[in-house]
Amino acid sequence: MKRLLALFSILTALPGAAYAEFDYPMRAQAVSKNVYAIITPTRELPNADNGGWNSNSAFIVTGSGVLLFDSGSSTGIGRAIRETIATVTPQPVRWIVNSHAHGDHWLGNAAFDDSVEQIFATAEVIEEIGRDGAEWIDRFARMTGGVTGDSAILAPDRPVDRETELSLGGEPIVLMLSGGSHSPGDLMLWLPREKILISGDVVYSDRMPSTNAGDLKQWIGMLDQLKRLQPRLVIPGHGAVTDISGLERLHRLLTELWTVVEAGVDEGLSDFEMLPRVSAALESFKPFYPGLDDKLRRDLSHVFLQVEAAAFQ
Ligand SMILES: [Zn+2]
Repeated sequence: MKRLLALFSILTALPGAAYAEFDYPMRAQAVSKNVYAIITPTRELPNADNGGWNSNSAFIVTGSGVLLFDSGSSTGIGRAIRETIATVTPQPVRWIVNSHAHGDHWLGNAAFDDSVEQIFATAEVIEEIGRDGAEWIDRFARMTGGVTGDSAILAPDRPVDRETELSLGGEPIVLMLSGGSHSPGDLMLWLPREKILISGDVVYSDRMPSTNAGDLKQWIGMLDQLKRLQPRLVIPGHGAVTDISGLERLHRLLTELWTVVEAGVDEGLSDFEMLPRVSAALESFKPFYPGLDDKLRRDLSHVFLQVEAAAFQ
């Protein structure tokens, strides 16, 4: 991706604080009459080129206010999301759902502090944000060469501990738990009327998932369950809007990853020794999941430990 640094004018003053102004081409992609995806074009981790905006958001325009799912990697990105929502509706964001505790999915919350009434997340995520929230701000500032700037922390305040049906602004929604598939306490949103799944990072459509905080076996089973919902559309945490085919392909990828690592464990190989073989076994997936080898190098030790633990159960 070409360098977009020139588009950023850093440090625009707000009363009492300075946040990085985010000026990256962001648009609301209509996926139904009142549901929109905001899809980042990057498939990289946060860096200076993408300004730290590396994760997707989605929003639902209800009869009385907007529900936002995930709010980006900084207060500045949250403000850009707010402006993008304003191109579609004058209604304020009254509810936010944070899918999980990784900073690219909630650090934009503070951009909505004057209108948001409830911010939903699981108790595990609320606890993790309380513990590690500030570290995410520093981490993204380092990764982006300071482009994400400072962020205020506006933590979720509505714990969700089980599948929960809500009616927000007359819109029926279901908040679903993943059982820690991608990371502890992931939350997903299901729109039963429209059969749209807003999955957070339980689904990556066209970028290799990060598996280093998750439970791969649980994840494979969860993708099976999600397929059974027969979603018409899936808005993933990373990658383009997809449909059930995106769930099926990710299910095949993670199943193959488990199977080949399991075979290596059976032979007594270490994670390091089996890396070339795992990479080769996943060759056919690489065109669909850029960054597969990089993520594999980073995450294989984590997957290895899970497979090994399962083998000795
Ligand atoms: Zn993410």
